[in-house]
Amino acid sequence: IIRLTNTKPPVNFNKLDRLSEETAPLLPWRPPTLCPGCAHRASLYAIKAASQRVARDYGKHTEPIYPGDIGCYTLGYLPPLEAVDTTICMGASIGIANGLAHVVKAPIVAHLGDSTFFHAGIPPLINAVYNKANITVAILDNSATAMTGFQPHPGTGYVATGEETTPVKAEDIAKACGVKFVEVIDPFDLKKATDTVERAIRFDGPSVIVFRRLCAIMEQREKRKRGEKTVPYYIDQDKCNVKCDACIKLLGCPAIIKENGKTIIDSSLCTGCGICAQVCPYNA
Ligand code: SF4
Ligand code: SF4
Repeated sequence: IIRLTNTKPPVNFNKLDRLSEETAPLLPWRPPTLCPGCAHRASLYAIKAASQRVARDYGKHTEPIYPGDIGCYTLGYLPPLEAVDTTICMGASIGIANGLAHVVKAPIVAHLGDSTFFHAGIPPLINAVYNKANITVAILDNSATAMTGFQPHPGTGYVATGEETTPVKAEDIAKACGVKFVEVIDPFDLKKATDTVERAIRFDGPSVIVFRRLCAIMEQREKRKRGEKTVPYYIDQDKCNVKCDACIKLLGCPAIIKENGKTIIDSSLCTGCGICAQVCPYNA
């Protein structure tokens, strides 16, 4: 396009390519992961904990099903979260859940981001209501289209030029589609979030939960603009059980690392979200 229109690119892509080639070998090898402090980590933890709780009532061989979608939260496919069973295209989380609900008896929790919901999640949600699909839809609302570069979407309240506009609320859309169970929760309150997901799964009919928390990258940017400091968490080594690793195994936050046999928090990465403290059985 740049060649055809004879325009100057806004950045020097050749220079960027050279820089990434030079720096790539310096980086440690690791699988892709959600950012430290990402609200999706908390949401997916709550979805799994609640679904497994309900699945036990269906019989000991019943596994919950988590149809996933396209966005940062697709990374929840990887260990330790393992909360994504299918990823096909935008909006397919609810579409797949609809089909499964008519042939499988198990807790089915579809999840997708706010941007994806506005883009492609509304028609399958109407389908769920109309065809009485017993599914739960979790809308992971971080007010961002984070994975592709923070483009505005109907929930952000501003358009591509930066001009303000009226934001659309996912919960209003869900109610307008005829969903009878719609709740908005803060994913960082893990207990409340898990209990709410459990109630949503047990609800007879389609249910929608909006997990609302600003994207961690945006939150850090906003804090810097306001001149606010991030207060990182730390692990009290006198209380921590070195054989436990629950925080690592349950959440996989990249700020929690092992060093010389100890579990510690890298203060340069920690955003102070506090969810690791909520899962620690030793109150460390
Ligand atoms: S969950 Fe608590 S006790 Fe277990 S490793 Fe993490 S900080 Fe230590
Ligand atoms: S508080 Fe815990 S979970 Fe949150 S960013 Fe820091 S180390 Fe990670």
